[in-house]
Amino acid sequence: AASVGGNEMEAVRNYFNTAGFDRWRRIYGDTDDVNNVQLDIRKGHAETVEKVLTILKKESLEGVTVCDAGCGTGSLTVPMMLEGAIVTASDISSAMVSEAEKNAAEALKGLGSSKPVQLPVFEASDLESLKGKYHTVACIDVLIHYPKEKVAGMIAHLASLADQRVILSFAPETPFLALLKRIGELFPGPSKATRAYLHTEADIEAALNAAGWTVRNRDMTATKFYYSRLLEAVPAGTK
Ligand code: SAM
Repeated sequence: AASVGGNEMEAVRNYFNTAGFDRWRRIYGDTDDVNNVQLDIRKGHAETVEKVLTILKKESLEGVTVCDAGCGTGSLTVPMMLEGAIVTASDISSAMVSEAEKNAAEALKGLGSSKPVQLPVFEASDLESLKGKYHTVACIDVLIHYPKEKVAGMIAHLASLADQRVILSFAPETPFLALLKRIGELFPGPSKATRAYLHTEADIEAALNAAGWTVRNRDMTATKFYYSRLLEAVPAGTK
């Protein structure tokens, strides 16, 4: 199985259980205690989530099984749950998983019982340990933690868990972003404590193709400090 390598993965886990948890919980939240860079990232990320939901909602999500791999605080998990999806949400950070669970429970409270909505299954798990079969696998803004040489294996693994659809987003490697990264302007979040890896769209698409998948939709979100390429892939031959 693909792996980011013991020490580096441990570092990522530690970061997202401690300082990274605190930082990203605020970025993905709605409180005022964020600086301008974080606010910019919050807006960019919210746009990505909206775009993913738009793709997902082209057909009803009711009863559709979804694996949200690297769910963070549940920014995507919660709205999918509210659409009736049967979500399994996981993250390498148990702090993140707890936060996502709390947010989902909170969102459920406000609902009447008429909607067929069910609480997701939450688990602390790294991507490589995920098992099962889902209609859709979503992995949003997580691949930045995977080095180039590991990312194809990871995509093959994620695709093997999906029946109908894989949705991936990642920070694209472009000359501009590579430059920003070099001068330390990009990813003021993770780069402080963990390494950040950019991936070319061609690499990601080739990995999907090699796994028997074909890209059906692509989108891009770019703000000042947030860059995310979004791909929706379906099994090759799907109309
Ligand atoms: N997907 C969520 C979203 O878009 O709101 C969270 C994105 S956040 C930038 C990245 C998340 O990936 C963090 O919650 C982190 O703990 C998780 N993560 C990093 N490496 C991981 C790994 N190897 N396996 C599972 N989750 C991982």
